[in-house]
Order: sequence, then C-alpha cells, then structure tokens
Amino acid sequence: MSILTLSNVFQETQYQAVTLANFEKFSQIQRLPEELIKDIRVVGSVLPFKTNTYVINRLIDWSNVPDDPIFTLTFPRRGMLTPEHYLRMEKLIDSGADPRLLRQTADEIRLSLNPHPDGQMRHNLPVHRGQKIRGMQHKYHETILFFPSQGQTCHAYCTFCFRWAQFVGIEGLKFATQEAQLLKSYLLEHPEITDVLFTGGDPMVIKTEILAAYFNVLLDKELPRLRTIRIGTKALTYWPQRFVTDSDAKGLLALFEKTAASGKQLAVMAHFNHYVELSTPEARAAIRAIRKTGAQILTQSPVMKHINDKASVWARMWRRQYRLGCIPYYMFVARDTGAQRYFEVPLARAWEIFRKAYSKVSGVARTVRGPSMSATPGKVQVLGVTQAGQETVFALNFIQARNPDWVGRPFFAKFDPQAVWLDDLKPAFGDKEFFYQKELDELLAADRAHVPPVPIDNRF
Ligand SMILES: *Cc1c(COP(=O)(O)O)cnc(C)c1O
Ligand code: SF4
Repeated sequence: MSILTLSNVFQETQYQAVTLANFEKFSQIQRLPEELIKDIRVVGSVLPFKTNTYVINRLIDWSNVPDDPIFTLTFPRRGMLTPEHYLRMEKLIDSGADPRLLRQTADEIRLSLNPHPDGQMRHNLPVHRGQKIRGMQHKYHETILFFPSQGQTCHAYCTFCFRWAQFVGIEGLKFATQEAQLLKSYLLEHPEITDVLFTGGDPMVIKTEILAAYFNVLLDKELPRLRTIRIGTKALTYWPQRFVTDSDAKGLLALFEKTAASGKQLAVMAHFNHYVELSTPEARAAIRAIRKTGAQILTQSPVMKHINDKASVWARMWRRQYRLGCIPYYMFVARDTGAQRYFEVPLARAWEIFRKAYSKVSGVARTVRGPSMSATPGKVQVLGVTQAGQETVFALNFIQARNPDWVGRPFFAKFDPQAVWLDDLKPAFGDKEFFYQKELDELLAADRAHVPPVPIDNRF
C-alpha cells in the first residue's frame, strides 16, 4: 500500500499531543465523571502527563474507563500519589495558588518519589579521559546506553515510567548528549562494547535527519567491533505513524535498511504492555515496515498491577508478537520509583504470571526471560519459588551483572510473599549477605571515587 492510500485508511495521521493544557476539550474526557477529571488535573501536575489523539481515539476503550489498561497507562489516576501528596496538591490547585508555588510543591513531591532509582545518576556514567560523561551509561560490558539529547521526550508518557524525572524539567536531572563523536571515541577505547542502545525518552521522536547523523558515525568502518545498534522505543504503540505515514518515515526506513545492509544488526527494542497495542492497522503496518528493512523487533514490558497483571494478557501478547514477527525478550518487574506503589506486583506473583503465560505459548515465543529486576548489581531474574530442605526460598539468577562472572549462578533468598524488589530480600540458609555483595560494594566505592565534587548533570 502506498503512503497516500494508508493516510486514507488511518484515521490519525497528524500527531496531536493531549496534555493538561488541552485534555478537557476532548469529547471522551468531557463524558468522564468530574472526579476523574479532577484526578487527572491534580496528579498530572506532579507526574508527567502527555498522551495523544491516536492513543485516545484508537487504543483506549472508553466504555471500560477507568479500568481500561491503556487509559491507566497514560492518564494520571488518584491512586498514583499518596493520599497526603494528593491532598496537598489538590488544596493548592483549589485555592488558585500561584503557579510558582504549584511548581515548587510538585518538584518537592517528585524528588521524594525516588526519581533515580539504583543510583542511576551516580553510577554507570562512563569515564572518558578522566572525566565522567553525561548522556551515556555503561553498566554491562557489551552494551552502552546512549541518550541523544533530542530524544528526551516521548509521543505519550507512561504513568509508571522511571524516566519521568527527565521530562518534567527539574533542573539538573536530565541526562543527554549531542556528542556522537564523543560516543565514537569512547567506543574506540572500549572494544568490549558490541551494542549501542539508543534510549531516552524515546529516540523515535527524533527527526530522521538527526538520527542519521548519529547512525552515520556508528556505521563508520573504524568501529568494526560494534555489531548491534538498538533503539529502545514505544513509538509502535504511541505513534506507529512514525514508521509509516510521517513525512520522514520513508527516510527513516531507508536509514534502517542502510544500517542492516552495512552488516550491523539493527534491533528495535519495542516496549509493549498489552496486546491491545498490537491490534490496530497502524501498529501492524509499522511492524511490517520495520521488518521489511531487515531490522529485528524485540519486545519488553514491565508487569504492572491495573495494566497487565494477568497471565492470559501476557500469553496473548507474546503469541500476537510472535505472529507479527516480533521476538518476546524481557518481562520486567516495576521499579521502585514514581507511582510504583500503585503498580507494584509482588515478586512471587510476578513469577506466577510469568510461569503461567510462558507455559501457555509455543517454544518459538519462549525467547522471553523474566521476571527480571534491573537492580543495582544487575538484572536479577526470579527463577521461582522452591523448597530447599526445610526452607522455602526464591531461586534467583543474574541475566546481566556489573561483574559478568556473577551471571548464571543461581542464588537463594528467603521466601517473602510481600517482597516487591531485590532490596526486600534476605539471603536464605542464614547467610549474612548475597554472594556478590562484597564485590558490589567495592565496585560502587571505586565508581564513587570518580564522581566530581560538582553535580555532573548541571548542564541541564
Ligand atoms: C537492560 C540493560 C542493558 C541491556 O541488557 P541486555 O540484556 O543486553 O538487553 C544495558 N544497559 C543497562 C543499564 C540495562 O539496564
Ligand atoms: S515511552 Fe518509555 S521513556 Fe517514555 S514514558 Fe513510556 S516508559 Fe517512559
């Protein structure tokens, strides 16, 4: 189908953001009960709120609101703030407080919500010629995360997102870099890196022309050890038109094709939370278009209460992904930031969901791993709950680790049905600490020694 005919088929080809400034003018919102509208106003003034007309017209089932998973995914809800925080903001808004005071209070609340879990701001920043560099994170040997500065937003925001600190404009909290050359010189000094993962925000908000400038540096013949360029994105859900009908969609696909043809792999790390996101002709056309360029699509999602905490949702999502040519890759545990309380699923429950869904799909979709916590020492997978002698334990395993030698060595924690994160777990069998703890402390201390006395992120 040509782009012209697709524009006739697709109802939403012109991107339009829906934010606090305009959401009340949409008919779907006008039909909501007043208290839900107020919750959006109050909670949306603390957590970043942005959605768009594709999401509200094509993905949300408004007859199922407020329980609809995609509504919950992009619209702020009362339960996402603590009652105290909610009341504090509500009072200010109701009293018509000065916008400066509103912003200041919202910032205070945000800072109390652990905007950078696991020391993301402090650790993992690469050191290059004696200086920490912003806009990159190098935690696992093979893969470097790159945050292009033009990609620090998304076509819509997820209410659970741990990246939200970058969006709301708190000064000094933003990672970014425009320096593709700096990335290249870092790669030249680190031959162990095989993968660059573009992340954000959503790098797919970046115009093709600018993306091409980054890609061209990476496709350079001087970087033969770089094998894979990955792009972490939720655009297949929030704006699939990016790959199909947008004015620079064609150029983007050509860039993907050129990358694949260069001998490096291009992997689109697509973020999908629910099978509904894969149901529209727009999303399907985008997946087809990307696959045609020779790029792979791997999928990942956290498991979250109110959105996808059912095995049947995951089994259906993985099957659908496989059928459309995507490779199920990771199931994550929601991390300890922002509105985590609202979304959290205990580890034991996450494992049950994973196990049940995994057992219901054919082997070709069992490429997925999880449930996995991206915690300070690494990506820790909950292998399951089991009995060891008299003790009930969690069996755990590193999928990725700060020290590669920790990977693939099962270890055990006391079973705790309420535990939601690695920090909640205690070693089993009366051990004082997990096997990696001493080395981890040493690694973190060495890392800290590099931190300059002034905030490293003061550029923003
Ligand atoms: C998840 C992650 C990666 C990529 O890990 P893979 O297992 O290779 O997909 C890289 N860096 C960081 C910091 C991560 O959290
Ligand atoms: S698309 Fe990704 S970065 Fe953007 S809000 Fe959602 S989870 Fe966060």
